[in-house]
Amino acid sequence: MYDIIIVGAGPAGLTAALYATRARKKVLVLEALSYGGQIINTLEIDNYPVAPHISGFDFAEKLYNQVLELGVDFKFEKVIEIKNNNNYKEVVTKENTYQGKTLILATGSENRKLGLEKEQDFVGCGVSYCATCDGAFYKNKEVAVVGGGNTAIEDALYLSDIASRVYLIHRRDQFRADNVSIQKLKDKKNVEILYNNRVTKLIGDRKLEGILVSDKNNVEKEISICGLFIAVGRIPENENFRKLIELDDSGYIVSNELCHTNVPGIFVAGDNRVKELRQLVTATSDGAIAATEAIKYLNSLN
Ligand code: NAP
Repeated sequence: MYDIIIVGAGPAGLTAALYATRARKKVLVLEALSYGGQIINTLEIDNYPVAPHISGFDFAEKLYNQVLELGVDFKFEKVIEIKNNNNYKEVVTKENTYQGKTLILATGSENRKLGLEKEQDFVGCGVSYCATCDGAFYKNKEVAVVGGGNTAIEDALYLSDIASRVYLIHRRDQFRADNVSIQKLKDKKNVEILYNNRVTKLIGDRKLEGILVSDKNNVEKEISICGLFIAVGRIPENENFRKLIELDDSGYIVSNELCHTNVPGIFVAGDNRVKELRQLVTATSDGAIAATEAIKYLNSLN
């Protein structure tokens, strides 16, 4: 029986593991894919205190190694269900079932899709959800980015230094991104912004050759590109907890600032919970809070 089982090894889950193991608790971290979460897709982190210019990958690796050195149990298994028993919780993965006195759910979020025909087929053949991972394939080529948040603006900026031309397609005429990045993008000579436009079709047979966009008057236009970077936000990965944990209408776990969920002994940390600001610094902060609250809960059982 573990003291704390942490589901998810992004910055929130890893920080929770750091705090929990330093408090000498027996900790298991379960991760479906690879450690680091979405931060590994960030080329350079510039808004985390005392670590200017660190890459997301380096950040994740350093944190992972820091946690491993403390003796955390790690298993790369996907959690498919959690169960609440009176004095302990059960975590079911595809391979095993684990028991823990407390749980911290730090599963983060996944890329939202546009839902277009062939979108899935073209992943790796022109469609990407990660500019820093795949941008290098588009040197001196024409590409487009969809979205109007910080990710889309940053992706477009990043790609503008690689591709010959970048179209930024946003469904409204106002961005959500911060003004400094927007201005930097507007200053780029090889970037064209298409406001009030939606991508309606992906063109191509076996790989992407272009897109059809439609403006608010339903006027359609074809754009020849070989790369489409979709940055239209993220969806919390909470579906497997829905039976037990209260979610809001958008699928985020309802919690307070102490990272409690509606189930005593189950805590939440990071981007998968209801909160105002989803950033690296708030994810690590959540991890510390959730672990501290889990430890308090464990102490209350004794
Ligand atoms: P986001 O802020 O949720 O923005 C998503 C964008 O996609 C919005 O502009 C939205 O349009 C658009 N969109 C959503 N669904 C769409 C659809 N079906 N078709 C077309 N467009 C669609 O997501 P994000 O940019 O990934 O950022 C997520 C969080 O991470 C934010 O809090 C952001 O500030 C943060 N972040 C911060 C940094 C940084 O500080 N360096 C970098 C990246 C991300 P509408 O605007 O019309 O809704």
